[in-house]
Order: sequence, then C-alpha cells, then structure tokens
Amino acid sequence: MGIERVNSRIADIQSRMIALQTQQAAKTAQAQPTTVQGGGSGDDFAAKLQEAMSGTTNTAGTSARSFTLNSKGIPTELAAYGNGKIPANALEQVGSTRHKLWAPAAQGLNQMIADAKREGVTIGITDSYRPYEEQVDLARRKGLYSQGGLAAKPGTSEHGWGMATDLDLDSKAQAWMRKNADKYGFVENVPREPWHWAYKPKTA
Ligand SMILES: [Zn+2]
Repeated sequence: MGIERVNSRIADIQSRMIALQTQQAAKTAQAQPTTVQGGGSGDDFAAKLQEAMSGTTNTAGTSARSFTLNSKGIPTELAAYGNGKIPANALEQVGSTRHKLWAPAAQGLNQMIADAKREGVTIGITDSYRPYEEQVDLARRKGLYSQGGLAAKPGTSEHGWGMATDLDLDSKAQAWMRKNADKYGFVENVPREPWHWAYKPKTA
C-alpha cells in the first residue's frame, strides 16, 4: 500500500474508534445523546445559583441551553451544514474577539482566557473556526499533516466544525494550558502543533 492509502486507512480506523467510543458513551448515558452543558464544567452550580437568585430563567442567553454531539462527535446542530460551511450566525463569538467557535467551545475558551488572565497568564487566539476555502488555502501553503505538513485535509479539520482553536502561547501559558485546559474542555491533540487545542467536552 502507498503511504496515502495507509494514512487514509489510519484515519478511517481512528474515526471508527471515535464512533465506537461515542456509542459506548451514549450507551452508558442510557442511549441518550451526548449532552454538553454550555460554559465551563465547574460553572454549572454557579450558573444555576445565579439563575435562582435572580428569579429568572435565562432563555435568551446560553447558560440554560444544552448541546448534543452526534455519533461522529460533531455538534448535532451544525452537522447538516458541513465542515467549513457553517454560517456565521450558527457560531458564537469568543468574548469580544473576531473569533468564532461552536457555542459551548466559545464559552469555554472565553472563560479559560479570563481565568488565566486572573492568574497573570496571557492566552491569545491566532485562529478559530476555519471556512472550507481557508482550509484549502492552508493546505496549499503549509502542506498536509499526513505528508509532514501542518494542515488537515480540507473538509476534515476540527476548525471546520468550530471545535478547535490555535492559540498564541508563551512558555508560561503553554504550561498553564497543559495543566488547566481540560477543565474547560480543551485538549492538546495534535503532535507537532502545541498551539492547536481541540474542544472535547466531557459528557454530562
Ligand atoms: Zn489548529
């Protein structure tokens, strides 16, 4: 087999494994779809308390919304649009930046940046949601990851689902991320790309 066939075989096996893991998670959750609460995982109680104190239910905002992932780990509400084809209004702005992500990821990232800042750690955002055309351009400029480059095959990038961000991190921030990011649902999941952080929320 040529290297490309091996790589595509590996990608196929990986996606099957992810699908299996997701199925398993769904089974443990009594066959219910994976549910992700908006915001940082530790904030649920605080959000509920605030809601109770204010005497209102937040219907317009995001804290009362819940989100689901399909069997491929893709946000159910975004899957139909396709990777890199998501309209801007289906994504959420990260704080006051120009960056957009899937709503729970945007909220998690915003919270994480704020918490890091309080500890004197600066986290900058280089990139976030990446439209299909930009994925094509990036692959042309940086080469495919499978061939030693730094770009996903267009149409397969985690950025194309608003599920990954590239961060500007100094060594202090990189260390902070490695210690704390998982609390906000972010994981460092691509070797050779310490700036790339994917949103992999824990299931509720
Ligand atoms: Zn990236």
